Amino acid sequence: EQSAIHERHAETAAEVVPEQLGLYIGGEWVESASGATLETRDPTTGEVLATVSAGNAADIDRAVSAAQAAFEEWGSVSPAKRQRLLETIADRIESELDAFARLDVLDNGKPITEARGDVYLAAEHFRYFAGIARDSAGETVPTDGSRRVTTVKEPYGVVGQIIPWNFPLLMAAWKLAPALAAGNTVVLKPAEQTPLSALKLMAEIDDALPAGVVNVVPGYGPDAGEPLTSHSGVRKLAFTGSTAVGKQVMKNAAETVTDVTLELGGKSPIIVYPDADLETAVQSTVLAIFYNTGECCTAGSRLFVHEEIESEFMDRLVAAAEDLTVGDPLLDSTRLGPKVSEEQRDRTLSYIEKAREDGASILTGGSAPDADALSDGCFVEPTLIGDIDHDHEAVQEEIFGPVLEVFSWEGYEEMIELANDVEYGLASGVITSDIEQANRTARDLEAGTVWVNQYNDFPTGMPFGGYKQSGIGRERGRETLEQYTQTKSIDISL
Ligand code: NAD
Repeated sequence: EQSAIHERHAETAAEVVPEQLGLYIGGEWVESASGATLETRDPTTGEVLATVSAGNAADIDRAVSAAQAAFEEWGSVSPAKRQRLLETIADRIESELDAFARLDVLDNGKPITEARGDVYLAAEHFRYFAGIARDSAGETVPTDGSRRVTTVKEPYGVVGQIIPWNFPLLMAAWKLAPALAAGNTVVLKPAEQTPLSALKLMAEIDDALPAGVVNVVPGYGPDAGEPLTSHSGVRKLAFTGSTAVGKQVMKNAAETVTDVTLELGGKSPIIVYPDADLETAVQSTVLAIFYNTGECCTAGSRLFVHEEIESEFMDRLVAAAEDLTVGDPLLDSTRLGPKVSEEQRDRTLSYIEKAREDGASILTGGSAPDADALSDGCFVEPTLIGDIDHDHEAVQEEIFGPVLEVFSWEGYEEMIELANDVEYGLASGVITSDIEQANRTARDLEAGTVWVNQYNDFPTGMPFGGYKQSGIGRERGRETLEQYTQTKSIDISL
């Protein structure tokens, strides 16, 4: 079985790993100035998938220059032309849907059924911003008759974008589409663990994209990410990743007074009311914590279940978690793949271990699966933890794995206080049949998204972003387009 997995992955890699593994700068594939490379591994087999050029400050400099040169033209093309480019990108993504999906499965370890969803959403995202690309208008400001005041929305120029490894293609799409729709040019740094789908995207759209409008520089965070965040030629920064690095990005941005959009971590609560439909509650919770192997910034990782139904609900939730197929993510039947890397697997397991040491109960899971077939991969069992203090580090910190901590509640006020008692505020879930209760809870939760009777749902155009230390700015929505523009006021004396 193990050798079947290795064989399947090797065959797939031969089909989908892109040929071009350099930096994409000014419309050309080039090597890094230092000649440095990085290896990206398949976390299911542990084998090296590809060796990719790894950029540093000199490459970022080249890429920013290319983006600056391209902006001279791209910054003033018609919105109609931008719209057409975004539509073309969406078409190209769709026509390669299966290959993109399999590539992200190899690079990240996510289950193929979910990877297909990512690719579909990536194309949708380009279509949405194609749709509103013509719609970023200024206004006429009412004044007295001695002047005429109008505003125009102008692009910033060069945008620096840094993305994580959990949704390699989709995060690139979330970043690129609004920036391009608004007329900016981009330098994108993908995560070192998962650079391949961004490179494939460039290869697919190379003939349609004016040179230098998008530049992709893979590399490690301190080598390639950091110089991008401190480059004086970059006029706007957008970052998705950990809160710790987000703070560093913001500090660097302060030095050059650059606007930042930050999508950071989360530790989102799911609240189950006694009147909840139990099947909906179980399915939503499974989706909340086990989707993408828990590697979602939105992961619903703290469950608050009302004590009246706790016993029955938990029986069903444990059964549902144990029913999930952990295995080869290339198979349609798999619900949970490996974590993205050994480092991330060990990090997840060490949180579980700490909880266990401190007296928590492991209700199910709690370790790497012992199946021989999976022993080369970075797998972690779906894990539910009870009897843990809310101020324990496994509860307060983002684990970013398939690990849920369970609390029971009785009084509303105490429950809401606990639900909000983390430094994060990205997402949340409420499961109830009472609309008034749902609205009251939505009002009281400190979170950028409240899902009611569902979880991890991302309809195109719904703004997404964090309260508190989960971030600044909103992606995916109409306002995102505005966040990639700056306003110029023109005041004419009459
Ligand atoms: P990270 O924040 O270190 O990496 C995210 C991106 O930032 C990568 O492209 C990385 O190369 C880049 N980066 C790293 N250091 C940088 C620096 N100094 N300057 C500029 N860019 C830099 O995240 P990680 O180490 O891959 O994961 C650590 C934890 O972060 C995870 O366990 C999880 O808790 C969290 N995380 C959150 C998200 C999210 O979507 N919110 C995504 C990935 C990781």
